[in-house]
Order: sequence, then C-alpha cells, then structure tokens
Amino acid sequence: MILVDEIFGPTIQGEGATIGVPTVFVRTGGCDYRCVWCDTLHAVLPKYKSNWKKMTPREIIDQVNDLAEGPILITLSGGNPALQPLEELIALGHSYGHTFTMETQASKAKPWFRMLDAITLSPKPPSSGHDPDWNGLQNCLDAIAYTAVKPSIKVVVFDDDDYQFAREVHKRHPDIPFYLSVGNHDPKGEADTSALLSRMEWLIEKAISDQWYEATILPQLHVLIWGNKRGV
Ligand code: SF4
Repeated sequence: MILVDEIFGPTIQGEGATIGVPTVFVRTGGCDYRCVWCDTLHAVLPKYKSNWKKMTPREIIDQVNDLAEGPILITLSGGNPALQPLEELIALGHSYGHTFTMETQASKAKPWFRMLDAITLSPKPPSSGHDPDWNGLQNCLDAIAYTAVKPSIKVVVFDDDDYQFAREVHKRHPDIPFYLSVGNHDPKGEADTSALLSRMEWLIEKAISDQWYEATILPQLHVLIWGNKRGV
C-alpha cells in the first residue's frame, strides 16, 4: 500500500528539468524532513495523516488514467516519495505507456530508483534548517548508476548561504544537469510575486557575475502563475 496525499493534473511541471511539461502529480504522504519553509506540510506532518489514503498501485494508475486521456509523465512527489514502496506502481504505469519522474531531497536511496525515467535530487540548503546529507546524495546517485535514468540536481536558493551550498553541490557533481530555483518564502500566505522576481534577478546576477554558466536558473513557474494554491 502506498500513502497518497493527493493526485492531480494534468497540469504542467513548475520547476526543474521538466519545467513546462504536462504531467499528473502523485504526491505521497510522509517525509523524513521538516524544512522550515516547506510548502507541502499537508504531505509531511503526521497531524494530516488521516487525510492520506492508502492506495494500491492499481488504484493510483486507474485514477491517473481517469485524469489523463493517454500516456503522460507522472511526477512522484511528496513529502518524500522515496519512503513509499513504488516499484509496482512504476511497473504498472510503464505498462500503460506512462513515464515517471521523481523528486526527492536525496536522503533515502532505494533500489527501485533504477526503474524511473528521470529523477530530480533536491538536497536542501542551510535555510531549510537541515544539515547537508552528502552521503544520502551520493547513495541516490549510486542507485541509478549505469542505468538509463536521467538525473538532475535542483537546489532552492533563498539567500547567500544557500547559494554557496548550491555551488558546493555542483562542484561535487559537475556532470549532473544542475538547476537553481528561487525559494518561496511564505507558503501559507499569498505568494509575493514581485519579491520572487526580485530574488530571481539577484540570483541570476550573482551566478552570471561568478561566471557560473553551467547552472540553469528557473523560477517556480507554478507559484508565479497560481500562487500557493493546491492541486494545480
Ligand atoms: Fe517539505 Fe520537501 Fe522539506 Fe519534506 S523535504 S519537509 S516535503 S520541503
């Protein structure tokens, strides 16, 4: 059984390597982190557990098939989807022509990562309140080594310390496509679009002045379009 917080879409992926790509989100419940600026606490905190449904892979894929007319990219998100047993879900989804990408903070590596089509490893920066987990990140990369899974790394940046952390991550893994994303400070309130855009401008100027040309710098597109609304 898989703990599911919500299934929604089709919509577009709002950030990272598949930004703009139509997708259905399967957001699992439960997370081993508690980032101070988490924007999906409904998929994290045990107090919301009663809202999470225990679903079989068949029930999840049936729901995805009801939402999407044909094969689509399924984004496994959370919480931390690596906490759930997802191998059967991925195998069943593939049998319908769906593809899978997953986003995780890279704290737990699982053998079934090699069944994914793509994975975004999103190690959390200092502003999250968590220490860097370099071993976790390496273990996740090792889990997909010598496979066709397309990896990318994405770091959310709120401030200068986060930026330095992002540079260190990239220095350690220079061959993995690297994405920077500006953080959304107030996930519970209205998204402050102009503050987000100013931070984005700051981030672009900083990366360019440091001649850091290998990083792709992106906004959280979904926040710019829909603010902090759920299920879009
Ligand atoms: Fe929220 Fe992600 Fe941090 Fe978990 S890892 S607490 S889902 S931001």
